[in-house]
Amino acid sequence: MKNALLLLKEFEKLGYLAYIVGGSVRDYLLKSESFDIDIATSATPDEVMKHFKSSPIGIKYGTVLVFFNDEEFEVTTFRKDLEYFDNRHPYGVLFSKTIKEDVARRDFTINGMYLDNEFNVVDLVGGKDDLEKRLIRSIGNPDERFREDALRMLRAFYLVSKLDFEIEEETLKSIIRNKELIKNVSAERIYREISKIISYDNSLKALDLMVQTGIYLYLPGLHQGIKYIVDNHILLSGEYFFAMCFYKNSKVDKFWKLSNKEKLTYQKVIEFLNHKGEIDNNLLYQYDYEDIIIVAKLNNYLNVFDINEYDMIKMYHKLPIKRDSDLDISNKKIINIIGIEPGPWLSDLKKEITNMILSGKLYNKEEDIKEFILKRKDKYEK
Ligand code: ATP
Ligand code: MG
Repeated sequence: MKNALLLLKEFEKLGYLAYIVGGSVRDYLLKSESFDIDIATSATPDEVMKHFKSSPIGIKYGTVLVFFNDEEFEVTTFRKDLEYFDNRHPYGVLFSKTIKEDVARRDFTINGMYLDNEFNVVDLVGGKDDLEKRLIRSIGNPDERFREDALRMLRAFYLVSKLDFEIEEETLKSIIRNKELIKNVSAERIYREISKIISYDNSLKALDLMVQTGIYLYLPGLHQGIKYIVDNHILLSGEYFFAMCFYKNSKVDKFWKLSNKEKLTYQKVIEFLNHKGEIDNNLLYQYDYEDIIIVAKLNNYLNVFDINEYDMIKMYHKLPIKRDSDLDISNKKIINIIGIEPGPWLSDLKKEITNMILSGKLYNKEEDIKEFILKRKDKYEK
């Protein structure tokens, strides 16, 4: 905060208006920590870049990242958004010289306050009042604001999760009316906001409201999971949350832009949880540690397998081998013992060795494995 205030003074010396704005003012008034400090100024992006060490990060929307006293600040020129199209993009922005226009494009009253370098709060939208009443209220007409950018509806739930506030009645009714518009927002933006929602203490309250408003039905592949999580009061964040949702959905929904690795993990978790029968070493061996910790946690709630989280992870750690390369014998040595050209027989034999080791009938020691191979030589020579 100290450096941010010093930066405001620098802007003032240069003859510009500058304020700390948005979430950082909200968090400051709530005496909670802000991770990022946003600054709004009357200086244009070119002017900001001329005077400060900076890099343009969202120049189209007037945002420049300023490096000041070893800290980074997102500095955005006061602006007025032109009309929005497709519920997510303005046709363009116009820079302006006053906060009166700048505040009108912000989402909620509690995010619409400005702090000057002497700690005066400039509040043109009743943000302080709503902060005291612990209310999330759209600035202006909520229907219009959600039609402009439908992601704002999810931002309301994010604020519920983070602050334990209520959504003001008209704003909430408007979300119910406009919920379908969330379909027009990109998967990346929705995913980011949902990840934020589930990372805070009051995520269940937020998810419950998402069920009540019906907006959860428009989140591809997540709605069965969200309903289950809410009905059973389950606190899950990050990949545990998404894994539970995709399991309840029986598959990963293609809508989400996941990396191949993430997709594979979720698929493996679903496959594991759908396994019929007992858990044994052979089953565990087919999965990675990352898969196991998710399965073990979800199983606490799902009770698919009769084993607790701790014991399942312990069982995985105790596997005598965890992957092919853990075998205490090289392919070359196996081939030498059998004495024929490598072929499909090699993987068959290795599978046999692996099974013996996993079921505790053979030690993973080269000498023991050699002895076993010699006994099986007849089968593979032919
Ligand atoms: P966080 O605690 O996650 O930083 P935040 O409210 O500060 O929450 P930011 O993404 O940092 O969120 O945005 C900073 C400010 O920009 C907000 O407080 C709000 O005033 C405005 N803002 C952000 N996203 C939108 C949006 N989609 N529509 C309108 N205003 C927005
Ligand atoms: Mg912020």
